[in-house]
Amino acid sequence: MIFLDAAATTPVRREVLDAMWPYLTGEFGNPSSHHTLGQAAARALADARASVAAVLGCRPGEVTFTSGGTEADNLAVKGIALARQAADPALNRVVISGVEHPAVEESARYLARFHAFEVDVVPVDGTGQVTPEALLAVLRPETALVSIMYANNEVGTVQPVAELAAAARSHGVPFHADAVQAAGWLPLDTRALGVDAMSLSGHKLGAPKGCGVLFVRGRTRIEPLIHGGGQERGRRSGTENVAGAVGLAAALALAQAGQEEERRRVAALRDSFIDAVLTGVPGAVLTGHPAERLPSVASFCFPGTSGESVLLELERQGVVCSSGSACAAGSDAPSPVLTAMGFEAEVAQTAVRFSFDAAVAGEDLAVAAKAVRQAVASVRTLGS
Ligand code: PLP
Repeated sequence: MIFLDAAATTPVRREVLDAMWPYLTGEFGNPSSHHTLGQAAARALADARASVAAVLGCRPGEVTFTSGGTEADNLAVKGIALARQAADPALNRVVISGVEHPAVEESARYLARFHAFEVDVVPVDGTGQVTPEALLAVLRPETALVSIMYANNEVGTVQPVAELAAAARSHGVPFHADAVQAAGWLPLDTRALGVDAMSLSGHKLGAPKGCGVLFVRGRTRIEPLIHGGGQERGRRSGTENVAGAVGLAAALALAQAGQEEERRRVAALRDSFIDAVLTGVPGAVLTGHPAERLPSVASFCFPGTSGESVLLELERQGVVCSSGSACAAGSDAPSPVLTAMGFEAEVAQTAVRFSFDAAVAGEDLAVAAKAVRQAVASVRTLGS
């Protein structure tokens, strides 16, 4: 099997599992316990927090461990917007882009349904990017929060996050970036990016599913969503997933260490794969930004097919990928990301995404490109 669906999830890296192992076995303490076992767990959690903070260029106290990217996004969007609204009831609007992950979009919709917020959707261009001008055009005095993703999960487009965050800051509005797909590939220094909050997820990086991080800049007020024992400085109650935090920290440090070299290597492989598909498949369209895209994502529409049929045919040939996001898998509805980018619904529902991890091999991509040619041709023949 050639696995080209790393944007959906990745296997746990051996080094990560080794780092986690003690906290799943002998050192199984609860970090809130005062005995030695508990204190060992508390130290491991503190070390993991410091290690994540070093990558994010922030203080350890600005790192909150969560159950994943979805929870981090919910906490950022709801938590910051609700805290600001509590301080000033006039702050009742949130801005998101038209290509956000459902974890952000649905959090904003929840605020509208239950907390009288208005949601302003800043449009993207045909490549999936938001311009600072487009963002400035939707900011209002009542805007409580802007949430725009760093890199898109379906088409890989990278946003000009530093410029967007600066635009929000110029209006005194906090800026949250969903960096779940960016982590491991793009710089994550929160000072350079100028973000006030940023979400990460372990399982996209070689750590297990069910662990994530929300960075929240020191002075930013945030209302917790999960109440209880006051763990994570009151921002996220619940006994901490010590092994998950240790694994996430290890995976992030490993990804960061190899970043430049891996990024260049994978980007070059991605470009050859894109060339091979565009030249080999008549009518194939690359989706997303031609240059400002994740090294790890090649996404296309194949007009005259259905994305789901191409996926099935590819899997029959041993190539595993997805039609867009794992969340939308199995649905024949056109991708809202592609429709926001201006694709017609019948073209949008022919989307196929190939996403790679750092270990991707050129030979596998050559085989996959050939499989894509055959799969699209066979789906078109059957459909005609
Ligand atoms: N945000 C983006 C951009 C994602 O791609 C994903 C997962 O696919 C998430 C958030 C949700 O992360 P998790 O699976 O850790 O809940």
